[in-house]
Formats: sequence, structure tokens, C-alpha cells
Amino acid sequence: MTKVLMLQKLFIMITLMTISSATIAKEISKNIHQIAQNVYSFSTNGEYISMFVVTDDGVMVFETMNSYHAKAMISEIKKITDKPIRYAFHSHNHWDHASGGAPFIKAGATTLAHEEAYAWMKANPGGDMTLPTQTWSGNRKDITLGDTTVELHYLGMNHGLGMTIFVLPESKVAYVADIVTPNRVIFSVVPDFNLREWERSLAEVLALNFEKVVFSHNEKKHPLKAGNKADIASQLAYIRDLRAGFFAELKKGTNPILIPKVLKLPKYKDWVGYDAWLEMNIWRVLADEFMGPFPWRPEQAESKQ
Ligand SMILES: [Zn+2]
Repeated sequence: MTKVLMLQKLFIMITLMTISSATIAKEISKNIHQIAQNVYSFSTNGEYISMFVVTDDGVMVFETMNSYHAKAMISEIKKITDKPIRYAFHSHNHWDHASGGAPFIKAGATTLAHEEAYAWMKANPGGDMTLPTQTWSGNRKDITLGDTTVELHYLGMNHGLGMTIFVLPESKVAYVADIVTPNRVIFSVVPDFNLREWERSLAEVLALNFEKVVFSHNEKKHPLKAGNKADIASQLAYIRDLRAGFFAELKKGTNPILIPKVLKLPKYKDWVGYDAWLEMNIWRVLADEFMGPFPWRPEQAESKQ
């Protein structure tokens, strides 16, 4: 087992241990679930979820994750179609999502990431991560394979680098990584998110033309099932409520460094991670409001508007 895979397993274990108090048992009876005609979600563990679409000229895969996940997905795809895998898309740069390109390259696919994700991947090699064979740039690209088009949307800063939202306009299905996790507070210390740019991005995602969406992480009972725009709106509401709650405490005269201890958001008490992570989420808002937004990069300060 590679170092990255070991770290990822450890990461999943810690995540599950930390949030277990509030976790509803997830049900993953099969590794794949049909989302729409020719569109499927895939996971080996219910924690990391990919998507693929079978076109009449081959298969397009969204999110490779790691080699174990990738090989398992390739064998599931082979059960559904004998058409070749033509594309495997990376949503963003992080090791726990952008690893696992090699099995797809070996299978003959083009792997593709936004140029900003590529630059990071090149500078920060991880054991199981293989550089994409192609990059794309700008805010928008359409790729058509056979009878199916995929829209690639880069919305500027939000999480990681080069974060790409994928939309299949014919079936009105989207794939969204990391910036929405239904039924869960924000992951621990809110790693590598620019909060205000994240909010702006979520509003822009809501304006895109799709009805169903597969999330890379999903804490609902059936994580492989498609979500919808209400899940995205809930994520946006949580971030806004978190900040509003912080400012309400400040206004009351609460000592800022006590706010993470005293602030509660009972509306979200049933969300996974509420007991363990709410306090960390509030610390992150405090840091953001006192220090200013981070991470921030001058070359990416302009959104697509
Ligand atoms: Zn990420």
C-alpha cells in the first residue's frame, strides 16, 4: 500500500471516529448507483464518491481519488460497457482527490485538470498522484464525446486550486467536489477554503443549469444517490449562519476567544460533525474575520463576473 493510500485510510478512520457520535449509518449495498440514463455514481467506501457517464463513443470519469478506488471503478465500468474510458477529470489539486490518475492513463484515457491544479500537482508530488496528461485554462470549457457534452466551470477561488464544477447539460446532472457536503458541518478546521469566495462560488453553482448533483462527500443515508440544489443552498446557509452567529455574539459583547465555546447553531444539531467540528468551524470564522480572507492569491482574485 502506498504512503498516500495509508494516509487516506487513516484520514477516513479519524474522520469516522471523530464524527461517529452524530453519524447516521450509511447504506452502501453496491459500489455504483445509477443517477440518470448512462450516468452513475461510484464509491468503494461511501466516503469518496466519483461519477462516470457512458457515451456512445466511450466513458468519461469524474474524480480519480486514488489507485485503489480507480482500479475498482474501472472494473465496475467494464461490467456496464465495453467502450473505452476516454477521459478522467480531476476536480482540484488535493492529494486525496487527484491521486489515482495512473490506472486511467494505463487504460488509454486522457486525464485532465485545470492548469492551476496542475501547477500545484507538479510542485507537490504525492505518492499515488500522477500528473494529468492535459490541462485546461480559463473559466469555461466544453468537451463533447460522442452524444454527450460536459461543461467544465472554473469559478475562481473557493477550495484548493483549479476547482472545477462539471455539468452534463443533456441529463442535467452535475458533479461537485468538496465545496458541498450534504448533512455535515464543515470538515474540521475548514482546510484550504476561502470562506467569502466559497459563498460567492456556491451562489454561482446554484445558477448553473442542472437538477441532480453527485457530491464527492455526502453524509446522507444513501451517499451514492444524487442530491439537488437544496443541498447546495443548505451548505451556503450554514456558512452564512456561522458568520452571522459569530457577529451576533460579538454584538452581545462576548469575548471573541470564548465565542467558539459558547456559540451554538441548533438548526444544524443533527448534522454529522456538529459536536466535534462546530467549534473548529467557528475558530476558522474568527481567524478569517480578524486576519482577513485566506488563502488568497492575487492572480486569481477576479471571479468570472
Ligand atoms: Zn479538497
